[in-house]
Amino acid sequence: MNTYALVCSETRKSVLVDPGADPDALEKLLAKTEPAAIILTHTHSDHIGALDEMRKRLKVPLMAHSGPHVDMMNLEADRWLNHGARVSVGNQIINIYHTPGHTPDQICLMNEKDHFVVVGDTIFDGGPGRTWSIKEFQITLKTLLNIILTWSDKTVCYPGHGPSFCLGDKRKAIEAFLNKDHGSFFGDATWDM
Ligand SMILES: [Zn+2]
Ligand SMILES: [Zn+2]
Repeated sequence: MNTYALVCSETRKSVLVDPGADPDALEKLLAKTEPAAIILTHTHSDHIGALDEMRKRLKVPLMAHSGPHVDMMNLEADRWLNHGARVSVGNQIINIYHTPGHTPDQICLMNEKDHFVVVGDTIFDGGPGRTWSIKEFQITLKTLLNIILTWSDKTVCYPGHGPSFCLGDKRKAIEAFLNKDHGSFFGDATWDM
């Protein structure tokens, strides 16, 4: 999975997003920055494998959606990030979008000024994040329509797995996906299915 460090180039303040594994590599990622927070895009186990260790090493506030959570039911954050929340990282602002479907606690971290967003497992290059029930898949469809498609075409999306992509390059495929009748489908979806 992909861990991200968001760094304000003016102040060198940083946030660590999804400490999945390998604390030593994550510390290197944050070298020459001043860590200010750890943020979780959602609480699947592959995204939080190094969370306990990184909390010990960095001693910074943990921020995540208020849930319900998935692989970490007893999660205690220092700040709950619900839809519309704003997080300052030095001179940068991160806007929080709640994008449920893959999990109920899935959020995206948007930097409007620089046109990029960390989407976690909301969407990937090839399709939306996996779902495990018809209901979750239907929620995913709503998230795509009501949140993802409202973002500008030049938004670069950084997902929890695989390569980044420009939303504008996917818009037609996502619209076509939403226009199809998926019946009682759930599971691993692709834009062109
Ligand atoms: Zn996930
Ligand atoms: Zn994942």
